[in-house]
Amino acid sequence: EADEANKAKSKFLASMSHEIRTPINAILGMDELILRDEINSSVREYATDIRQASNALLDIVNDILDLSKIEAGKMEILDEPYNTAELITSVTTMHKVKAMKAGLDFNMEVSKGIPAVMYGDEQRIRQILVNLLSNAVKYTEKGSVSFAVELLSKTDNTVRLKFKVSDTGIGIKPKDTENLGEAYRRFDEKAHKDIQGTGLGLSITTELLELMDSKLYVESVYGSGSTFSFDLVQRFEGTEILGANWEKDHKEKLKVDSEEYSSMFTAHKAKLLIVDDNDMNLLVASGLLKPTLIQIDTALSGEECLEKVRDKRYDLILLDHMMPEMDGIETLQKMREMGINTTAIVLTANATPGIRSMYIEKGFADYISKPVTGKTLEETLLKYLPKKLIDKEGTVAVPDNRKAENTAESKAANTADEASAGTNNNDLKEAGTMSDSIIAKIKDREDVNIADGLSFCGNEAGYEMALEIYRDGIDKKSAEIEKFYNEGNIKNFTVKAHALKSSSKTVGLNVLSEKARLLEEAGKNEDKAYIDEHLQEVLDLYRSYKEVL
Ligand code: ADP
Repeated sequence: EADEANKAKSKFLASMSHEIRTPINAILGMDELILRDEINSSVREYATDIRQASNALLDIVNDILDLSKIEAGKMEILDEPYNTAELITSVTTMHKVKAMKAGLDFNMEVSKGIPAVMYGDEQRIRQILVNLLSNAVKYTEKGSVSFAVELLSKTDNTVRLKFKVSDTGIGIKPKDTENLGEAYRRFDEKAHKDIQGTGLGLSITTELLELMDSKLYVESVYGSGSTFSFDLVQRFEGTEILGANWEKDHKEKLKVDSEEYSSMFTAHKAKLLIVDDNDMNLLVASGLLKPTLIQIDTALSGEECLEKVRDKRYDLILLDHMMPEMDGIETLQKMREMGINTTAIVLTANATPGIRSMYIEKGFADYISKPVTGKTLEETLLKYLPKKLIDKEGTVAVPDNRKAENTAESKAANTADEASAGTNNNDLKEAGTMSDSIIAKIKDREDVNIADGLSFCGNEAGYEMALEIYRDGIDKKSAEIEKFYNEGNIKNFTVKAHALKSSSKTVGLNVLSEKARLLEEAGKNEDKAYIDEHLQEVLDLYRSYKEVL
């Protein structure tokens, strides 16, 4: 009975996780649309926060899903080629940033001579390293986090590597190290109650390593730090190895790749049908594909899909699997029975390993797992749309998120360069001559960073408009901040301080923005003493800009 109950639990967790992934997908997708739009920096900040929180949620759900998969014996370890430098940089870059933010040093050491391409399950190795590295950062208050990959031995076609993650953190008591792999088990929770976690990471890590014929070793001194390590045997082919400059070489290559990626395509004659029972997903997918100019129709069910394909010839169909009543597979079968042979690609949040071959067996040409990025969607369409329908490749400058950020950065850098070189750009000069322009009024003030304002608002006209809106909102917004605080509504007060921080930053009022940031921090920490002492001063400064602007 206990076994049965346990099985039922695993099944419940697996299906619940699946149900949760679908709406998260919609959130992430809609959010990517927002990030792709021309938005001001405060909206960008909110949208970036949404992305971060959704990804964190997705991580938790995926962990639960993974664990239930492992428990059910359904986890498969792949044996596919992967790029070693890519694996190492992708896990270390994000933790370097996290460590830096937490005031920790980050050290990395990679032995020379490791094959550049190895065979194994990259995704799972990454998952293990991410678990260990994020724990190291999470459970370390001061000092450093170190990551090392050592080449232990090498044969003609295999290497034995040691991966090691060390920290100078809180450490683990000897009696607890024995139980580290237990699911949902966390230690010393009372002493570290603000460190969040589910207690799943190490248990998944242990299980995954076991599936890879390896084992997790822990050495820890309570109060002074821990080292987690494991060995891994990986197969390799070819002679290319990581040299002394592997990191730099890899970055160069990435740069080229991302430049290539900006090249998308248009296919205005192509007809695409997207089928999904969730209208939000339809909106997301259509929105992501808007720049390609493809003619897109949508259907909310298998039945509707069949009606549509009866009336019109499509070049490609993206079909959701899990739909109520007629699911994607049935829909495809019915379509084939009707004699319609349009290429169909399944879009699904169902991410079990081995599922791809199942879909291909059922007649789909390919499989895209949700959440889908614009890039994956475009790459897939480019692969399956008839070549004659592609009118332009590589000419549509629709930046992906990363590029958009780069552009903003480089714009800021350019403007700053120009300003510091004493060659103010024409925009600024012109602004200076327009006596009624707001920019002209503030261009010599020390508490304003015009270069920031121009870059965050896009151009002079945008900046001028933003300043005007900013100015006209001062009365109302300052009153709100005051009111929420006086009412003791710290939560809304903090939200408003946050908004003041970002809107001020957008228009280049950096001094005020920083002061608002400190108020926001204080709000988060419910530090009333700080707020009592500084609120009036911030409000006075804020209100003084009514006159200035
Ligand atoms: P969690 O989500 O709680 O971090 P994990 O399974 O990753 O879950 O870790 C289980 C427990 O092991 C943690 O709650 C923590 O008590 C302990 N732990 C893991 N890594 C470290 C570390 N680097 N330093 C100290 N304690 C750690």
